[in-house]
Amino acid sequence: MARSGVLQAALAAVDPDELVELTRELVRIPSVVRPGDPLATEAAVARHVERWLAKEGFDLEVHEVAPGRPNVVAWLGDKGTGRSLLLEGHTDVVTEGDPREWTHPPFAAELVDGKIYGRGAADMKSGLAAAMVAAAAIRRSGVRFTGRLVVGALVDEEADMLGVRHLCTTPIGRELSAAIICEPEQNELCLEQRGVVWARVAIRGHMAHGAMPEAGVNPITALGALLDEVPALERRLRRLCRRSPHLRPATVTPTVVRAPVQGVAQSNVIPSAAQAVLDVRLTPGPDAAAVAVEIDAACRAAAQRLRGATIEWEAINGYRLATRVERSEPLVRAMVAGVRQATGKRARFGGVPGSTDGTILRTTLGIPIVTCGPGNRLIPHQANECVEVAELVDAARIYVASALNFLK
Ligand SMILES: [Zn+2]
Repeated sequence: MARSGVLQAALAAVDPDELVELTRELVRIPSVVRPGDPLATEAAVARHVERWLAKEGFDLEVHEVAPGRPNVVAWLGDKGTGRSLLLEGHTDVVTEGDPREWTHPPFAAELVDGKIYGRGAADMKSGLAAAMVAAAAIRRSGVRFTGRLVVGALVDEEADMLGVRHLCTTPIGRELSAAIICEPEQNELCLEQRGVVWARVAIRGHMAHGAMPEAGVNPITALGALLDEVPALERRLRRLCRRSPHLRPATVTPTVVRAPVQGVAQSNVIPSAAQAVLDVRLTPGPDAAAVAVEIDAACRAAAQRLRGATIEWEAINGYRLATRVERSEPLVRAMVAGVRQATGKRARFGGVPGSTDGTILRTTLGIPIVTCGPGNRLIPHQANECVEVAELVDAARIYVASALNFLK
C-alpha cells in the first residue's frame, strides 16, 4: 500500500460507536479519589482499561503505584532503534460536588444531542478512550510502523501526579521519545503549558493578649504585609517570564490564609503563627532558582515591615515549571500533518492554563510533549461536564495519523 493508503486504512479502523461506548463505560465507573477510603481510587476503571487493552492484544504492564492505585501501561511494537511515542491519559477524576447541581447525573454518561455528560467526560476519560481506540485501530488495520506506541492510563494526575512520576522510573517510561497528552484542549495543539508553584508561607510572631498588643508580635499583621507584596511579586515574575500568545501571563493568587495555625481561635489572643498559600502560575522562562529568589524577596520585604516577625516558605510538591516545545520538533510536525490528514482542517494552536502529567514528562525525561485532546478547555471540574462526540472522534483520528507520521 502507498503511504496514504496505509493511513486511510488505519483511520477507517476507528469505529466511532465503539469509541462513544468505551468513553461512556469509563465515565460510568466513578474514580473520584478520596484519601483514606480504599474503595475510592482509580482501581476499578484501571481494571476496565486493562481488560480492554488485553483483549485487543496489547503487551501490557500494571504498576501498583500506591495501594489500590495502578498505572496501566500497554504498548505495540519494539523501540529498537526507532522512537517510542506515549499517548497519555489519567484515570482519576475530581469530585462531582453536589449532584443536585447536575442536570445529567454525574456518573450516568448520558448521551444527549451529540454530547456525553458526566464527571470525567472531558477530563479525561474521553481523551483516554480516544487514545485506546486509536492505538487499537492501528493494530487492527495491520499497518506497519517502526518503533513503539505506548498507551498510558495513569493515576493521581489531579493531586500529586504519582502515576506519571512512577512511569518516569520504569524502563518503558525511560525509553519514551515523545508524548501526546490527551487532556481536553478542544483538539488544539498546545506546545506550552503554564507552570505552578504552591508556596506555603509560615509566619511566626509572638503570642500575647489582644488588649496588650505591645507585648506580642502579631503574625496576622505580617500576613497582611505579605498580601500587600503580592502585586509587586506578580509584576516581577511577569518580567522574568516570556510572553506567550497562548498563555495568560504569570499570576500570584493567595488561596489559603490561616491564623491561628494551632489551638483555638480566640478573640482576645494574638496567635503565635499564621500561614498562607500563594498559588504562583508561570509562563516559560525562569528556572526554579529564579522563581525562588522573587518569592524570597517578597517574604523578606513583608517581614521587614514588622519587627520580630519571621516569614519562611516552601514549595508544596516542588516546582512544576512551565513547559514549551518548538514547532520544529518532529512530534509537532507529525501532529500538524496529522490534524490535516485526520480532519481536513489546518491545525490550531493553543496553550494549557495549568500543569498536566506532561509537565513531569517534560521536566523529568526532557522529552517533547504536545497536549491535545477532546473537550472544551474550560469545562473540566464543572457540573454538567461534557464532551462533543464529533470532537472525540476527531481526536482519535488525529492520534492515529500523528502516531503513524511520528513512527514512520
Ligand atoms: Zn485532566
